[in-house]
Amino acid sequence: MATYKIGVLNGDGIGPEIVKASVEVIAAVAEYAGTTTIDFVPLPMGWEGIETHGEPIPDLTKETLRGCHGWIMGPHDSSSYPPEHKEKRNPSGELRHHFDLYANIRPSKTISGIKSVVGEADLVIFRENTEGFYPDRNMHAGLGEYMITPDIAVVNGVFTRKASERIAHAAFRMAMQRKRKVTIVHKANVIRLGYGLFLDTCREVAKQYPEVKVEDYHIDAMAAHLVRRAKEFDVIVTTNMFGDILSDLAGELVGSLGLAPSINTNDQQAMAQAAHGSAPDIAGKNIANPVGEMLSTVMLLDWLSARHQDQNLYRVARLAEQAIMETMEAGICTRDLGGTASTTEFTAAIIERIASGG
Ligand code: ATP
Ligand code: MG
Repeated sequence: MATYKIGVLNGDGIGPEIVKASVEVIAAVAEYAGTTTIDFVPLPMGWEGIETHGEPIPDLTKETLRGCHGWIMGPHDSSSYPPEHKEKRNPSGELRHHFDLYANIRPSKTISGIKSVVGEADLVIFRENTEGFYPDRNMHAGLGEYMITPDIAVVNGVFTRKASERIAHAAFRMAMQRKRKVTIVHKANVIRLGYGLFLDTCREVAKQYPEVKVEDYHIDAMAAHLVRRAKEFDVIVTTNMFGDILSDLAGELVGSLGLAPSINTNDQQAMAQAAHGSAPDIAGKNIANPVGEMLSTVMLLDWLSARHQDQNLYRVARLAEQAIMETMEAGICTRDLGGTASTTEFTAAIIERIASGG
């Protein structure tokens, strides 16, 4: 039987509650399917890492993750860390950098029973995850941000052909399995060299996928188009900051950011991570919505099933997704969606549905 080793990083705030719920659902489906073994490997991250090993991402965590097929990452509350840790990369930034997780893949799809502002939509954003205008990503090149006088801050942007090429390939490969349409989002009319290189590289990569229709928009126009006609988009490829902003917008347009999943990948491994944060205001109250984390975990299984051509794992992912969606459709949901179920009640309802065969 195929065996997968999956790291489990609880993190801070609501992290332990939603990660536990996700692990329980996946363990229940794997047991029900009886075709796949998933070994979950708990590892310290965030406050737990600081308290047990003196670091939010201890070396032990990084070393063990290297031997995992992928991992489930909870949110972190880095703003609450002691001062010596605040100046460093936050835990997800550190893992993205350490493992060169260059592609952040964030789908936005309407869910039956959940109100969408833009009607039906089913799109996926490929966000370049290693460079652009994010100073922590550019530190390695000595290109962070700095003050040149007390009144002038300078922030560098880095755009490379290599990083643009690999995110474009990831997006076009996905487009071949979907509606064969890619929208490139940039601002090459203003930042001509940086976004120009990104746009030109994406267009160059597009030539290798002649079946895929290609279009491009400036980020500002794209924000408007997304609100007006979200359903016309399928695969969107963009740079780090634009992808960050656009995916929060898309997530909220189709329902709620609390439902929005994502994975970060480097082609060998993938990290599941809900789009929302650690929500310290509701931590420990058993009211957090675990769906964003659960659907991120389903994405991780989908990604692994494609990478290892494992139909059984694909089936495990579908069963989990179906049980999560049907539970919400049946009106069982957490308070943020207008329901009354606690995190554990909602999770138990999903597991019951799995055990009874749907
Ligand atoms: P971060 O800087 O970690 O991304 P943030 O400022 O974006 O944090 P979140 O932690 O995402 O903030 O929380 C924003 C609001 O959404 C909070 O009021 C929080 O309680 C709520 N929220 C976030 N995630 C969930 C969830 N899974 N279930 C219910 N409410 C949530
Ligand atoms: Mg946030």
